Amino acid sequence: MSDNCIFCKIVAGEIPARKIFEDSDLIAFHDIHPAAPVHFMIVPKEHIASLADAHARHEALLGRMLLLAPILAKDQGLNDGFRTIINTGKGGGQEVMHLHIHIIGGGNLRAL
Ligand code: 5GP
Ligand code: ZN
Repeated sequence: MSDNCIFCKIVAGEIPARKIFEDSDLIAFHDIHPAAPVHFMIVPKEHIASLADAHARHEALLGRMLLLAPILAKDQGLNDGFRTIINTGKGGGQEVMHLHIHIIGGGNLRAL
């Protein structure tokens, strides 16, 4: 738990969130400002500030986050596919400094 980290507070249950999944290592919840009809995030319970702060010991955790994405996307009705985004650091537009994968879909996403 990192002080003043909004996602750590969601993990600790101190701030409410529309949770869609939780186990001992991960939590997933809807984004408060959705960028698409479906927009949720997969978040490790451990406070890792960004992808640039992940280490070899996080390898399995990162793998689990990615493998969970299509399962939860399907649960949320994204049967045609979805987009995953990880913003990293200031240059990547990251605003919440606790690692998370965005999963968005359900609308027309422009090609990148
Ligand atoms: P970032 O820009 O760091 O990749 O994305 C952070 C995301 O967290 C943003 O899309 C923002 O809408 C979302 N967010 C920020 N604060 C909260 C919150 O308190 N609850 C939820 N559910 N999402 C939040
Ligand atoms: Zn945190």
